[in-house]
Amino acid sequence: MAISRRVVLHFDKDIVGQSIVCRLAKDMDLEFNIIRAYVTPEEEGLLVMELSGAASNYEEGMRYLSQMGVVVQSLNQDVVRDEVKCTHCGACVNICPAKAFTVDMASRKIDFAGDKCVACGLCIKACPARAMEARF
Ligand code: SF4
Ligand code: SF4
Repeated sequence: MAISRRVVLHFDKDIVGQSIVCRLAKDMDLEFNIIRAYVTPEEEGLLVMELSGAASNYEEGMRYLSQMGVVVQSLNQDVVRDEVKCTHCGACVNICPAKAFTVDMASRKIDFAGDKCVACGLCIKACPARAMEARF
């Protein structure tokens, strides 16, 4: 059975740059389409990608990534903002790799564009007010 999944790969800074993804194609016969790639200020590597192939190969690929210390996050979730909790402190603005937060210069408030979000989860950890939440 063939499957296709959108995932975010979180690389530790020590393994950023290794050709892990290429092995998914070469050894596990998985097709990949990299949607976005970036390195966070903490030097964590993030790859948003679509992986397709036989279900058994996909499972093997997930095991391989886990052994390599890569955390795989499914994109089957939404990240939402609790408008009541948000204090518009701005801590999330520069941390978001998808640039989903912008400063409204007139009101000095932080706008959140949920449609840009790739559900990496970085703002959830960074928000001091715990206003950002993952919904599955
Ligand atoms: S870090 Fe949290 S409280 Fe601060 S602007 Fe972003 S969502 Fe709002
Ligand atoms: S989870 Fe937060 S930091 Fe990550 S892309 Fe979405 S809004 Fe940006």
